[in-house]
Amino acid sequence: MFVYNSIERYHSLLNDGTVSCFDTVNFYLEKIESSQHLNAFTAVYAEEALARAGMLDEKRKSNQPTGRLHGVVIALKDVIAYKDHPLTAASRMLKGFQSLYSATAVEKLLAEDAIIIGSCNCDEFAMGSTNENSVYGRVLNAADTSRVPGGSSGGSAVAVQAGLCMVSLGSDTGGSVRQPADFCGVVGMKPTYGTISRYGLIAYASSFDQIGIFGNNIPDVARVLEVITGPDAMDSTSSQKRQLLPASFGDKTERKYRFTYFEEALEHKSLDPEIKMAIYASIDRLKQEGHEVLPVSFEFMDYIVPAYYVLTTAEASSNLSRYDGVRYGYRSAQPAEDLDQFYKNNRSEGFGREVKRRIMLGTFVLSSGYYDAYFTKAQQVRRKLKDKTREIFEHFDFILLPNSPAVAFKIGEKTDDPVAMYLADIYTVFANLTGTPSISLPLYTHSSGMPFGLQVIAKPFDELSLLDISQKLMQDQ
Ligand code: GLN
Repeated sequence: MFVYNSIERYHSLLNDGTVSCFDTVNFYLEKIESSQHLNAFTAVYAEEALARAGMLDEKRKSNQPTGRLHGVVIALKDVIAYKDHPLTAASRMLKGFQSLYSATAVEKLLAEDAIIIGSCNCDEFAMGSTNENSVYGRVLNAADTSRVPGGSSGGSAVAVQAGLCMVSLGSDTGGSVRQPADFCGVVGMKPTYGTISRYGLIAYASSFDQIGIFGNNIPDVARVLEVITGPDAMDSTSSQKRQLLPASFGDKTERKYRFTYFEEALEHKSLDPEIKMAIYASIDRLKQEGHEVLPVSFEFMDYIVPAYYVLTTAEASSNLSRYDGVRYGYRSAQPAEDLDQFYKNNRSEGFGREVKRRIMLGTFVLSSGYYDAYFTKAQQVRRKLKDKTREIFEHFDFILLPNSPAVAFKIGEKTDDPVAMYLADIYTVFANLTGTPSISLPLYTHSSGMPFGLQVIAKPFDELSLLDISQKLMQDQ
């Protein structure tokens, strides 16, 4: 039976003829079929993936050059455009919509011979932390199906966790890759803002949004990042800095690094004591190994979630104004007297509760009477955070944090209390507010049996060191 280990290993099996892309895709399709109860996918491209696999097998056998992701089976969060395939953001608003073009990241995957096997379930328009806000229904955590997989990229996380693909893409505006990776026990990386083009990523909060990668190991994630990174004329916020990554992260680093952590974060009252203990144990170990680890005081803990929710809802209220049901998207069957009523009907019926809550919040914080009190203030907090972060990185290479105050929640546990749900984003939104690269590493197991991870944040564009230390931490487990 096919056992997936890493892209590198898979490639050597392909090259010595032990496996074929075609059989591998068949294997994944069967697994997806038998894992339907997890509800990880919104669409599966079975025939097409098989046809592409057959074509790639031919290509390899005829000794044509093969791509860096030759035959790699990848799933996309249903907010990432893939030409002529469904793109719905798990919303009634876009149900039935097919994308007219592919995201730059998808074009790059395909150019390196990847196989896209399907689109993954998520929270509607990537808004949520549990994957319970989806028009397709919730996704289940494969480690314990009475629990959520996290969100908003819950389906992408479960697709890797349950072995339904090799790697997957998600998007991370406030933790939507790292937090589900933490809840599901896989690696989840959000690179520096601007590292991966946002062209073809459905916009939630454009100054925060970034495509991220789920995988089982660091070399796989590094390879996918290497392929999809780079400047893009279609996204003016994409960075001109090229991520130069070594071909492999197979070797354990010997470099000694300088780590810091926020005492206010690890001593926060909301943090599960077991998570706190596990992270302190890792800190001790790093010290024993000769790394420098020192706490810094971080006075912004109480401000980061409010600043995040003011700024992202403001951006969302503007980004989502395009869904009016005129040219595409959901159109209500209700009669409308005038244009206003027509918009209202389409948007009230097309959007779910959480999305509507955020559009209203965002409209409120941008309204003329409250703009300075909320939006301007939150921008000031963001500026202060960026300054503080720059200062920290003058002295340190990495910041260590939890990903979430608790392990995967029980289904329904937080659905009636949006504020409690928002507050649980306390550890992930920092990296989005500051644009820093951040990764969740599945290092620990809780007494409940659930996995959880360590979050490591590096300075902007230092993905190289981040992946280097991640590889070491993963190998040391
Ligand atoms: N949980 C956060 C939110 O609901 C993160 C979302 C995201 O990163 N897309 O906004």
